[in-house]
Amino acid sequence: MSSVRPYRHAVVIGASIGGLCAARVLSDVAERVTLVDRDELPVEPIARRGVPQSRHLHLLLARGRSALEELFPGLSDELIAAGVSAIDLQSDFRWHLDGYLVRPEPSGLIGLAVSRPLLELAIRSRVEALLGVTIADRCEVTGLATSPDRARLTGVRTRNRADDKAESTIDADLVVDAAGRGTRTPVWLEGLGYTRVPEERLGIQVAFISRTYRREPHYLDGHIGETFSPYPGRQLGGVAMAQEGDRFIVTLAIRGEEKLQIGRAAMADYADSFSPGIAEVIRTGKPLSEPAQMRFPASIRRRFEQLDRFPEGYLVIADALCSFNPRYAQGMTVAALEALLLSRLIREGGHELHLRFFAAAAALLDTPWDLMVSGPNVEGERTEEMLAMDQYLERYRAAAAKDAVLGTELIRVINMLDEPSRLFAPDLAERVNRTARPCSR
Ligand SMILES: Cc1cc2nc3c(=O)[nH]c(=O)nc-3n(C[C@H](O)[C@H](O)[C@H](O)COP(=O)(O)OP(=O)(O)OC[C@H]3O[C@@H](n4cnc5c(N)ncnc54)[C@H](O)[C@@H]3O)c2cc1C
Repeated sequence: MSSVRPYRHAVVIGASIGGLCAARVLSDVAERVTLVDRDELPVEPIARRGVPQSRHLHLLLARGRSALEELFPGLSDELIAAGVSAIDLQSDFRWHLDGYLVRPEPSGLIGLAVSRPLLELAIRSRVEALLGVTIADRCEVTGLATSPDRARLTGVRTRNRADDKAESTIDADLVVDAAGRGTRTPVWLEGLGYTRVPEERLGIQVAFISRTYRREPHYLDGHIGETFSPYPGRQLGGVAMAQEGDRFIVTLAIRGEEKLQIGRAAMADYADSFSPGIAEVIRTGKPLSEPAQMRFPASIRRRFEQLDRFPEGYLVIADALCSFNPRYAQGMTVAALEALLLSRLIREGGHELHLRFFAAAAALLDTPWDLMVSGPNVEGERTEEMLAMDQYLERYRAAAAKDAVLGTELIRVINMLDEPSRLFAPDLAERVNRTARPCSR
């Protein structure tokens, strides 16, 4: 990196995975970087209020692991030394997708069975140590500061969440919003006279309930983890996985308006309907945490690339840009890939970074988004084309339960290593036709 840095001061809103990855790449191109978070950031690997999903199971996919490794060299080894398992995503982790178990076989696709709080803490420690980076916690961004014609951002307005509640403005020549799915950017921009950003929503109405247990070696027949997705006709799903510190985390998911009960017996009964293995963990495990609940009504994609006007010096990244149904565990991977994309675009140079970033990020997001749209659980009208795709993918999953090659290709797509269109390629379609028989789940 040349010593000439195009930015004087970059501010990142939100010091979670998305914001930390963004701060890491901005530290190469800005003289100073300030990360602002409204939470008090813990010095231990514990869940926090501003990231409610941190109480729920998080799996780091192979592509996410390599992207984070690029940003933070040595991170995987550091986590493994802290007790995290590196796992083969086809043989150690079992995917029951819409009732079909992807045939377990070593794939060479290695992810991490890490808890969300430990991953965030490990990354934050790295970012904190970077020259020129400051993390300001208990500091909430309340609005944007702009040039008089409102065409360019000049900083953010903040309120200190510590005792004095002091308000101030932090000047910046680049601001990156990584405030998560509840970002205020659409409202702030509207207040400045910009058009409301078009938003796509895929309603799924899922509720999650999670609890952590002491790990026993026989859980899930010795496997590290397994996931069961809900599908039409079966509203329940769940996922369980070993974590560092000899823990096992269980997250149950239920669709629709039904309410999950948080008692041990009720949770075990829910799990019994799809996984006796997960039910056993709940029924016999020693709990290490209270049950935590969270609702996830919809995947949300904000189409900033479709706006005619957008202020210079402003970007939106990670969940604030697009937040997914966690069915395929892609959120953190996408956040890391977007940070790498941002790094590349800044290095390439040129004007109107926001235009270039939103266009390129939209292309990146098409892959995981298309996978969600093609899922059988999504609410709303299905076009004929979608129905044909659903039918093919159903046959694909049935075939992948028997044919490990089809299974690996599917896991590669979930890992964002290949486009979903790969699953429709003639060689794979031929294997599906050969292998899939009309079969019951
Ligand atoms: C139940 C569930 C399970 C998931 N499982 C997985 C998984 O297995 N694998 C995976 O890769 N992904 C998973 N995800 C997605 C993953 O959690 C996110 O994609 C990832 O954390 C990136 O989020 P983010 O950094 O963009 O936002 P968040 O993690 O939501 O963080 C936003 C941050 O911004 C701060 N903030 C918000 N507003 C302000 C403000 N005004 N001023 C200052 N600070 C502010 C918050 O305090 C917070 O720190 C899951 C999500 C859910 C809901």
